[in-house]
Amino acid sequence: MKISEIYNKKKRTLSFEIFPPKKESDLHNIDETLSVLCKLEPDFISVTFGAGGSINKNHTIEVAKKIRNDYGIEPIVHLTCLNYGKSQIDEFAKALENEGIKNVLALRGDKTDDLEPSNDFLHASDLISYMKKDHDFCFLGACYPECHPESKGSVDDMEHLKEKTNAGAGVLLSQLFFDNDLFYRFRERCRIAGINVPIIPGIMPVTRSDRIRKMVGVCGASIPERFRKIIDRYENNNEALFDAGLSYAISQIIDLLSSDADGIHLYTMNNPLVAKRICEGIKNIV
Ligand code: FAD
Repeated sequence: MKISEIYNKKKRTLSFEIFPPKKESDLHNIDETLSVLCKLEPDFISVTFGAGGSINKNHTIEVAKKIRNDYGIEPIVHLTCLNYGKSQIDEFAKALENEGIKNVLALRGDKTDDLEPSNDFLHASDLISYMKKDHDFCFLGACYPECHPESKGSVDDMEHLKEKTNAGAGVLLSQLFFDNDLFYRFRERCRIAGINVPIIPGIMPVTRSDRIRKMVGVCGASIPERFRKIIDRYENNNEALFDAGLSYAISQIIDLLSSDADGIHLYTMNNPLVAKRICEGIKNIV
């Protein structure tokens, strides 16, 4: 089923992001994660895409297939385009169609020194425009409540986001954030700009101290005072940080749901225990 059809029936969704194992030999391990996640009855699960190398060799499609065939949950396949040419994207799209996968999170991907850009696709909107000519997928796009790190500013970023939805992104999944007010302001600016598709906030429960600085460094999320205090106090106490990080994420989610968020997309980092605890914390709320 296309994710857009789920939104025709439901007001809001619960969904998870997972990443595929790097090695083929570890593919079976993903069942341990999926068996717990799928019992939580998410509306969909998205599977990340590691750019580099051959386009079909990163196990994204295999994991997506498993989610649908073995667990009966709708998968979304992430796909980046910066380092691929049109023929490689055609090959990937054909593989998706052969497997009956209907949902694609269309991404540009990060610029890195190790990988040459192909120049066939400069932005995620180019990928959507290209793929939709020959394929009937539901396209989703990424969005950034605190602006994309490369953007010239919020006006510029919003213009490009509008181009992405005009190209065909029917649902937006957000970058993680820790300050809900930033998300609310962003959502309002989207609506003013005429972006009326569902905007799903991405929530990352921070339960490990070694991840915090790295994550914040990579995505540039700002840390509100209330959350900084928690990190400063518990970063050397793993058990306390686990509990405090989960509670913070649950309080963020409750606030979002009571403020009419279109859903919650949980960055699980393949830790089913974290997703389970979060779902227990909101079971009567979602
Ligand atoms: P775009 O939408 O193309 O935007 C990138 C930048 O270009 C922005 O600054 C935008 O303002 C600007 N821009 C857009 N269009 C134009 C235009 N026409 N002219 C000028 N400037 C323009 N990365 C992975 O490698 N694998 C993943 O699985 C993955 N999953 C992700 C999931 C989510 C929910 C999110 C939020 C990000 C994910 N990423 C992933 C990271 C993503 O690839 C990077 O953030 C990347 O740098 C931007 O991708 P994008 O699709 O948002 O790019």
